Amino acid sequence: MAQHNKLDLRWCSHCLSMSTRPRIKFDERGWCNACQWAEKKRTLDWGSRQKELHRLLDKHRRIDGRFDCLVPVSGGKDGSYVAYNLQHKYGMNPLTVTVAPALPLALGEENLKAFVGSGYNHVSINPDPNAMRTLNRTGFIEMGFPYYGWLIAIQAAVLRLAVNFGIALIFYGEDGEVEYGGSTETDENPIYDVTYMKKVYLEGGYDKVLRESGVPANKLGFFKFPSDTELVDSKIEITHWSYFENWDPYRSYLIAKEHCGLKEAEGANAGTFTNFAQNDQALYALHTYLMYLKFGFGRANQDASIEVRRGAMDRQQAVNLVRLYDGQFPQEFLELYLDYYQITRDPFDAVLDRWANRELFAKSNGIWKPLFTVQ
Ligand SMILES: [Zn+2]
Repeated sequence: MAQHNKLDLRWCSHCLSMSTRPRIKFDERGWCNACQWAEKKRTLDWGSRQKELHRLLDKHRRIDGRFDCLVPVSGGKDGSYVAYNLQHKYGMNPLTVTVAPALPLALGEENLKAFVGSGYNHVSINPDPNAMRTLNRTGFIEMGFPYYGWLIAIQAAVLRLAVNFGIALIFYGEDGEVEYGGSTETDENPIYDVTYMKKVYLEGGYDKVLRESGVPANKLGFFKFPSDTELVDSKIEITHWSYFENWDPYRSYLIAKEHCGLKEAEGANAGTFTNFAQNDQALYALHTYLMYLKFGFGRANQDASIEVRRGAMDRQQAVNLVRLYDGQFPQEFLELYLDYYQITRDPFDAVLDRWANRELFAKSNGIWKPLFTVQ
C-alpha cells in the first residue's frame, strides 16, 4: 500500500522506489515505472526482441578479424556478462574497454584482470589523472556527483575509441533508466544517441562542468565527445543488452563468476547489504551517499528494490534492510576522499551540506538525519 507522510513523500507500493526519484512515475496501484517494467518483462515477447538482436548483430558482424562491437567493462558482473554473450553465444568479435576509475579498489582491479584473462581483447583508457581529479572535484561541488569526470570519460572516450577503430556498435549492459525507474524513452527503442547521453546520464551539466573546471583544452582529449560530423559519418549505434533480453543482475553475476573469474567482496559494501555489485571504485560509495542526501534513498534502497522486483525478497524484509543500512556515511573512505580532492574536512562537509535536501534531512551533531521513515 502506498503511504504518504507529512512531507508528502511516497514509496512505491511494490518496491521501495521513492517519489523523489528523478523521472519516476506511479500508476494507479502505486507501482513505480521500474516495477511496471518488471511486470511487463514477464509477458513481453522476448522472442521478437531476440530476432531484433540477431538483425542488429548481423548488420555489424565482421568476418575479417576486425572488431565489430565495443563493450565497456569494469570487471564487474554486467559488462562481463554482455561481453561473454557477444563473444561466446553470438559469435561476435567484441573489443572491450575500461576507463580507469579515479580510486580503484583492489578487488575491482583483480576482477578486471581476471575478466581480460578469461580471453578478451581489451583497451584500458587512463585519462590524465590531474584533469580527471579536477573534473571530479568540480562535478562533486557543482553537481553533487563525486566522479563526474569519470562519468564523462566513460561516454566520451568510449565513443572516441569507437570512431577511431571504426566500430559502429556499442553495447552497454542494463538500461538503468528503464530497469530502475526513469525515462521511458528507450524502453521501446533500443538505439540512442549522444544527445540522450548528455541529457540523461550527464544530467545536462556537461558544458558547465567542463567550463568551470578550468581544465585546459589539451588535457580534455578523453573528455570530449567526437564532433557531430564524426558521429554522423561513423553511424554509431549505442544500445543496452537489457532491451533484448530479460535482464537479471543476479544471473549476470552467476555467469561472470563462472566464466569470467568474478569474485565478490568479503562482507557487505558500504551503505548496503549486498556484496556483488559495484566493487570497482571507492567513489561509488560517496556517489550513493550523495544520492541519499539529495533524494532520500541510498544504495541499500536501490539494492533491496532490485531484489523485490526480481521476487527474491518481500517488501517488509526490504524495508527492514533499508532502515538498517541505507544512508551510511562511507567513513572508511573519508581520508581517501579528502586526499583525493585535495580539500580539508570543512569544505568537504560544506559540499555535502550544499546537496542535502532540507525537506528530507536535518543536521544534528554534524550528521544529516532523515526526517522521514521508510514505509
Ligand atoms: Zn516499484
